[in-house]
Amino acid sequence: MRKFIAAANWKMNCTKEQAKTLAEDLLAVSHTLDKRHRVILAVPYPYLIMVHDIVHSNEYYSVAAQNMHHEKFGAYTGEVSAPMLKSIGVEYVILGHSERREQHGETNALIRQKIDLAMEYGIKPIFCCGEPLEVRERGEQNEYVMNQLQESLFHLDGAHMKKVVIAYEPIWAIGTGKTATIDQAQEMHFMIRSKLIKQYDENVANSVSILYGGSVKADNAEALFNCPSVDGGLVGGASLIAADFEKIIEGLKR
Ligand code: PEP
Repeated sequence: MRKFIAAANWKMNCTKEQAKTLAEDLLAVSHTLDKRHRVILAVPYPYLIMVHDIVHSNEYYSVAAQNMHHEKFGAYTGEVSAPMLKSIGVEYVILGHSERREQHGETNALIRQKIDLAMEYGIKPIFCCGEPLEVRERGEQNEYVMNQLQESLFHLDGAHMKKVVIAYEPIWAIGTGKTATIDQAQEMHFMIRSKLIKQYDENVANSVSILYGGSVKADNAEALFNCPSVDGGLVGGASLIAADFEKIIEGLKR
């Protein structure tokens, strides 16, 4: 059965000391969790080992990388590969975040390559999808997101698909303070799960956690997570403040 997940995306923030304090503080809410829950901290590369060491003895916490390269090794200055992440115990990797798509020209085809590498190395992808504002305004968000799933994920067989976490992140809601309404989130998440049932089966579809991302805050998390088709959140800004992210973790379904 799928997990209810609070995933933090720290992006390019925190010094080493700040990262250490934040990770240690976040462990404080572990008593509110049980085996249906998972807290994932997607931290900058330099802190992956340190944060992994801080949280790994707690069964409900994992670390994630925020990206990885689409090749295994080679002359790619400044890049980080799947085997490197695997060798330091990283369990998850965010792939296809809209900031990577926009700032680094990542395409659905490139993300598919990364998904396959993550699978090869047993790293679970947190696959981000979501439409830009103009697509939402044209009412074409369902087709847009379906195409992202089709081109990057749906070549996987059911056993591999079960390892994927999907994060629906409407681009117009990321870092803008504008959150999708409960109805917008529920409608998209329901559609994604229905597509998974059609493409695979109920068993696979019910194994995939579908997170909402886009201005999730301490005061709106619980309402969003209470949508029947929402299994938690991928959180940027609010994950950098321990008290706020703790509240978001507490908002996970019980
Ligand atoms: C994100 O970057 O994945 C995100 C959802 O950011 P924020 O919560 O700040 O909107």
